[in-house]
Amino acid sequence: MFVLAAGVIDPPTAGGRPVRWAATGRWGGSSVGPYTSLNLAGYVGDGEPSVLANRSRVTGWAGASRLAVMDAVHGADVADVDEAGVVAGVDGLVTQASDLALVALGADCVPVALVGSDGRTIAAVHCGWRGLVADVVGAAARRMAALGTSVTHAVLGGSVCGRCYPVPPARSDEVRAACSADVTRAAIVTCADGQPGIDVGRGVGARLVELGVPREAIHVAAGCTVEDAGLFSYRRDGLTGRQGIAIARMAS
Ligand SMILES: [Zn+2]
Repeated sequence: MFVLAAGVIDPPTAGGRPVRWAATGRWGGSSVGPYTSLNLAGYVGDGEPSVLANRSRVTGWAGASRLAVMDAVHGADVADVDEAGVVAGVDGLVTQASDLALVALGADCVPVALVGSDGRTIAAVHCGWRGLVADVVGAAARRMAALGTSVTHAVLGGSVCGRCYPVPPARSDEVRAACSADVTRAAIVTCADGQPGIDVGRGVGARLVELGVPREAIHVAAGCTVEDAGLFSYRRDGLTGRQGIAIARMAS
């Protein structure tokens, strides 16, 4: 058995249930070849039996028996779910169901888990640089607000750091134009050669603070995908798998 990092967040309100999360890397699964071994994505060319076995393992690590996962599209649409399955075309999932693990995937982009103040609502979000521009994290927080709760805790899985993600100036300009000064300051770095780089994880952290999440309640569960051989990185390897973060409200 192998899990990169996991934890339990106690309910912030009486009557809530504890929430369990698990951040995964590339080890501990059944996939082979470029997907070795805990690939969770069904859209990267890996065999379905391996992917399903891996998802089942991660569901258990999150303390649940059912799983809902996104095939994300770098947008800002968020779906409410209360059943297991693959949800295509969205970058955020929200649920109030118990025993249902929500999973966000990435291999350089940031998988994010959010916990609501009601001890009942949870969300999983996929955010890359386009997600920062589209404010998918804000969209998930708004959806949670519509359900009557605010974000009190967040856990971020591994993602590419700014030094390892140099971008053309036009791309950092797009982030600067779309995001607040605080998010821009956190997300845009200068790489060794003077080129701008985007650190999406830091940008997501700054956005969460803007949304009212206490800094000490934002947990970064893994490091840079490019630098850590224990994580999948599309940027480093091209054809590869996807790790993720799973979050579930415990049944009892
Ligand atoms: Zn790095």
